[in-house]
Amino acid sequence: MSSPSHLAPPPPVAAEFIESINPATQEINARFESTPLSQLPTIFENARRAQREWAARPLRDRCAAIKNLRDAIFTRRDQIADVISREAGKPRVEAIFAEVLLALDTADSLAKRAPTWLKPEKVPHHNLAMKAKSGWLEFSPLGVVAIVSPWNYPFSIPMALVIPALAAGNAVIVKPSELTPWSASLIAELAVDAKFPSGLVQILQGRGDLGAAIIESGPAKVFFTGSVAAGRQIAETCARKLIPSVLELGGKDAMLVLADADLEIASSAAVWGGFMNCGETCISVERIYVEAPIANAFTKLCVEKAKKLRVGPASDPDAEIGPMIRLRQLEKVEQQLAEAASRGATILIGGNRRPDLGPNFLEPAVVANVDHSMDLMREETFGPVIAIQTVHNADEAVALANDSRFALSASLWTCNAKRGREIASRLNAGAVMINDVASYYGIAEAPHGGRADSGWGRSHSRLGLLEMVQVKYVDQDRLPRIPKSWWFGYTAELAASAGAFMESIFAPTWSQRLAALMKKDGVRRLIFRRNRI
Ligand code: NAD
Repeated sequence: MSSPSHLAPPPPVAAEFIESINPATQEINARFESTPLSQLPTIFENARRAQREWAARPLRDRCAAIKNLRDAIFTRRDQIADVISREAGKPRVEAIFAEVLLALDTADSLAKRAPTWLKPEKVPHHNLAMKAKSGWLEFSPLGVVAIVSPWNYPFSIPMALVIPALAAGNAVIVKPSELTPWSASLIAELAVDAKFPSGLVQILQGRGDLGAAIIESGPAKVFFTGSVAAGRQIAETCARKLIPSVLELGGKDAMLVLADADLEIASSAAVWGGFMNCGETCISVERIYVEAPIANAFTKLCVEKAKKLRVGPASDPDAEIGPMIRLRQLEKVEQQLAEAASRGATILIGGNRRPDLGPNFLEPAVVANVDHSMDLMREETFGPVIAIQTVHNADEAVALANDSRFALSASLWTCNAKRGREIASRLNAGAVMINDVASYYGIAEAPHGGRADSGWGRSHSRLGLLEMVQVKYVDQDRLPRIPKSWWFGYTAELAASAGAFMESIFAPTWSQRLAALMKKDGVRRLIFRRNRI
């Protein structure tokens, strides 16, 4: 387990330390000992021991402990928001809404819902021959699961996985991003506050090699959130070791603005959806397809609103656009903007660095005259840029939105509710919002996850909880003294009876079915068969 220490001035970084750096000021917030790979066997052993004890507790007791976790988060809410803002650079409003509140709601809702969602579930039988049995599903824990998480939501992303994992009776080994060790370290402290058994929640600090070594150590399942490149490597390891996985990867979310949309609202949503968290959100608006009759008015509003946004550090309570997490990320965004401009795109506003504020600050950009030959419209940008393409009609917007290797979420803007539902069902995405962006992520009942290069599996919701369990089907025969008609003792008569049974159910007409039922020595012989072995 790691321990923070505040240092000034910073000593040279040894390989065995992970530093938390304030992206606004470049100051070192804290340093954390990285977990030596040699400790992994002990870490897994401790996790397995804690998991056995935890899983033996009744589900209601586990949920009571999760309520303690919720209360611990609430008690420390200011500290958590503060740490996230200092480490990830996001404004405090965003640290509260998208991190602390989300974790609180996940804990509260799962503590209430998990007993119902994990209750054994009756399975009605369709097959007439199986009506004498009753079947049900049982949900049991997986064991020790690994959660490997990114830096952009350094608290809420791991928490939205840790909480259902625990509710389901698992132990968790969390490998947070090396860019945000401080936020993740709070999860270990909260686990102590909530009085979870020692070893149940372990936060291992380190880089990608530690994440890879954790997966090589054979967790029961891997929950990875991050880039496509790392996701692919993890999927390969998991395939080799037959470890199941949930992969929450990149996005290139489309926003479709139809001619009947409320332009004031849609333009505010575009600007917020594209620029919140400095555009470093997997489900942020990256591509906008707007119908021709309103394209100019919509674009003008986006530019006016982008102009009003205040860029600055989270220490300034009025700042809306914080720093990017690191210079490399900012340079990637600049590259995409330059490539798009060289192919004819127009940067209407933004895209300039703000060295007066610090090296990681970039003015939010609105770009027009884009097309799908540009990386800006095909590759994840992960920065404060919205790119607007004018389309002739909704069909063209749908075709362009679906022309992507990513399929995470999308949004659609129209005042025609019926048309909105019809178009939403044609969009290739894990989630579609009609007349809002991204906020479904804060709905505990809404599943989150992608298709294609955006990954597989689901988090949040009952589907996310069910990713945390193994499913067992149990079947009980209600007639324990009756042998089964299909058992040995095969004869030509038995085959004829079986055929009659099949005809009595599936023959195309009712008269044929009735005739099969009435056949002498037909279905009745099946029931009262004597020659069984
Ligand atoms: P990243 O892939 O670089 O790192 C994510 C985590 O994986 C880190 O903890 C890192 O140390 C670890 N890691 C890296 N290589 C690894 C390997 N080979 N084996 C095991 N672990 C490894 O991603 P990032 O830069 O931290 O995050 C940004 C990316 O995450 C973006 O692409 C974004 O879209 C995506 N993301 C997706 C979602 C979602 O829900 N779909 C949410 C947030 C972020």
